[in-house]
Amino acid sequence: RAREQGGARYQFFAPEMNQRTMARIGMEAALRLAIARDELRLLYQPLVDLRTGAIASVEALVRWQHPTQGLLAAADFIGVAEQAGLADTIGDWVLRQACRDLAAWHAQQLAPLPVAVNISPRQFRDRLLAGTVAAILNEHGVLAPALTLEITEACLMQDSGAGAASLARLKALGVRLTLDDFGTGYASLSYLKRYPFDAVKIEGQFIRDIVTDSDDAALARTIISMAHHLGIEVVAEGVETEAQCDFLRRNMCDLIQGHYFAPPVTAGELLAMRAEGRALPPHLLRIQKQKR
Ligand code: C2E
Ligand code: MG
Ligand code: MG
Ligand code: MG
Repeated sequence: RAREQGGARYQFFAPEMNQRTMARIGMEAALRLAIARDELRLLYQPLVDLRTGAIASVEALVRWQHPTQGLLAAADFIGVAEQAGLADTIGDWVLRQACRDLAAWHAQQLAPLPVAVNISPRQFRDRLLAGTVAAILNEHGVLAPALTLEITEACLMQDSGAGAASLARLKALGVRLTLDDFGTGYASLSYLKRYPFDAVKIEGQFIRDIVTDSDDAALARTIISMAHHLGIEVVAEGVETEAQCDFLRRNMCDLIQGHYFAPPVTAGELLAMRAEGRALPPHLLRIQKQKR
């Protein structure tokens, strides 16, 4: 548009765009320093088993303790990180920190609590990913089945051949694979058959209205039954209410994750939660004790 207007080139640098660009560049530079300055944090959100009521595993969610802006959510900087070519650097940090915490829990003689780590599309496209994961597991003495990698639909959409090969390499390591954010892209239920996933996670936006919207209810039921026919576990994310939890329990969902049970917490808070034996109340369990 600036060119059409001849000499008025300065219009290309509209004030708000300039500001946005500056903000992004500032963000990029700060993000590069963040790792060196140890400003990244890893929080853990419990996944609760609807059969036992107990915490079965956790998802690691990255945060940035920004020097001036406070604690930033992943959505506030993961995109910038990807564009700035920092996806691998941050991804490696997250994998290392998760394995470090896993090893520490093991050393404290706690029952093993598997950790799920999110893999970005950039990371997923890196042919060396499986080698990197193997090296990091080895570095910390963590067994592969203790680690789950969450792969989003977006990772698989570009090139199914390379995607399938990458998933096969990861699977061969022995790590668990979850198809994340299911329902948000163009992935179909056939992905569950085509690729070696152990679990599928229903995106939170489809859980939100599950009790009131019959379409969302039908969608969830269909995903659960199809996944179960294929021997795949189902996780519902973004579960915020008892009613949602009860719906999922009645419809045989396997695990729930969301603020209803717990938000993402620090490793220390997670330890405290486990020590006090935090669990779902019995009436929300899939398998209920028979009344006599
Ligand atoms: P995700 O993998 O689908 O993670 C779930 C998101 O839902 C998290 O947001 C979590 O804090 C949020 N959440 C959990 N319970 C509830 C709830 O009850 N209600 C609502 N409304 N939200 C809930 P978060 O941590 O901000 O992360 C957003 C996304 O950023 C993640 O979506 C994931 O795709 C990405 N992400 C997070 N950590 C990492 C990471 O270490 N590496 C990469 N590559 N991506 C990450
Ligand atoms: Mg995830
Ligand atoms: Mg998810
Ligand atoms: Mg999600």
